[in-house]
Amino acid sequence: FDGSQEQKQALKELGKEFEITTEKLRSIVKQFTFEMQKGLERHGAKVAMIPSFVTGKPTGMESGTYLAIDLGGTNLRVCKVDLLGNGKVEIQQQKYIVPEAMKTGEMRQLCDFIADSVDMFLTEIDTDSYSEALQLGFTFSFPVNLRTINRGNLMQWTKGYCCTGAIGKDPGLMLQDSFRRKNMKVNVAAIVNDTVGTLMAHAYRDPTTFMGIIFGTGTNAAYFEKMDNITKWEDDITSEEMVVNMEWGAFDEERRVLPMTIYDNRLDRESINPGTHIYEKMISGMYLGEIVRNMTLGLVDRQLLFDGKSSPEMNKKWSFETSHMSAIEIDTSSDLADTQYVLETVLGIPSTTLMDREMVKTLCRLVGIRAARLSAAGVAAVMTHCNLLPQDACTAAVDGSVFEFYPHFSHNMMKALKELFGEEVEQKIKFSQSHDGSGLGAAVIAMQVSKGN
Ligand code: ADP
Repeated sequence: FDGSQEQKQALKELGKEFEITTEKLRSIVKQFTFEMQKGLERHGAKVAMIPSFVTGKPTGMESGTYLAIDLGGTNLRVCKVDLLGNGKVEIQQQKYIVPEAMKTGEMRQLCDFIADSVDMFLTEIDTDSYSEALQLGFTFSFPVNLRTINRGNLMQWTKGYCCTGAIGKDPGLMLQDSFRRKNMKVNVAAIVNDTVGTLMAHAYRDPTTFMGIIFGTGTNAAYFEKMDNITKWEDDITSEEMVVNMEWGAFDEERRVLPMTIYDNRLDRESINPGTHIYEKMISGMYLGEIVRNMTLGLVDRQLLFDGKSSPEMNKKWSFETSHMSAIEIDTSSDLADTQYVLETVLGIPSTTLMDREMVKTLCRLVGIRAARLSAAGVAAVMTHCNLLPQDACTAAVDGSVFEFYPHFSHNMMKALKELFGEEVEQKIKFSQSHDGSGLGAAVIAMQVSKGN
């Protein structure tokens, strides 16, 4: 790199600010396990550690036909899942576009729409006559205060939904009512969080699975916990284990360990939820690009980048998407042509030198490596808490575009874990890309509920 003295100095300083040393990692892991413990002991902790009511691991030998639905931002996905035993499955699925009016109309209408879609799906796949009620797992990734595996109250809407007559009500019960009104023999067996689904989908095929993680728009994780450790749990329960939905995005809201830079603070201040979800904001897809944008503008203002010129697009909040970072990081061409394309064509910077492109690439690398190392700290906290080392092989099931597409993300996570636990950790823990939490995972949970597990 042969930039000017000032450029070199600026990158060096940023490198320091974004560095997570091994020692720092250790202190983050320590605080993480402390907050996990707090969440298990009492209600209302920052890292909420929500009991999922999903008890025990599947063996992979279970069989039967189950339904799963996933209500997402744009689509309703309906699946029929045939569990065949031996970890084998067959899935048929169909997506239905959720009309905008449904997202803001009455909840009862939305539930009728879901029931109609399921009805249509069953007709299409020729399963419209069935003797026993079909058991359905409902992936409903909005904050629900669960009281049982299939009963709870919606706390608030997110992701562009704001149906009336839903807050404080039970989405499982309302959907069940719609099925009943249409005389459909479908039973809403479980309301499923996507991290829990990711964990259970993978656990059906691989008994070494101990954790499910999402690195997508946001980040969260779930893992198997011993019932005795969930000391805030007050009801009777016979099972020894329960999946805990950590809600780990909220880690370190008291700001004890995460090294926030001015770029993180700026992002936080301008976010819709300032002061909260600090950990998530340093890790997940919704935010990483914005951190790079803030750093880029800082260098522009110091006349160290783009000849001191920005662009209207670059000045727009959230315009630098995390997928641009992936494109830039993967660009190894001698003239960094793809980086040039992102900066000039997509973001409208009038012209860039090779030096400019190299500097932006360095910024992406700093933010990307930090995200992977902080992610590893969360995994390390769960491993430490569960006393997983030294032990047999264990697998973390991971879903989300950041993990899937961000260059070297899983490699950088593993590198951090090696610093913490030694080289041999690579033989013990494996990250496995997992896609079907809301289909297979929700079905496996419906199966467990209906078999009384
Ligand atoms: P969701 O978490 O919403 O279910 P995804 O797992 O696809 O969905 O995550 C979407 C997030 O991933 C977005 O914030 C987006 O910026 C980010 N993303 C999409 N493509 C990439 C990519 N190629 N590299 C890194 N991040 C990406």
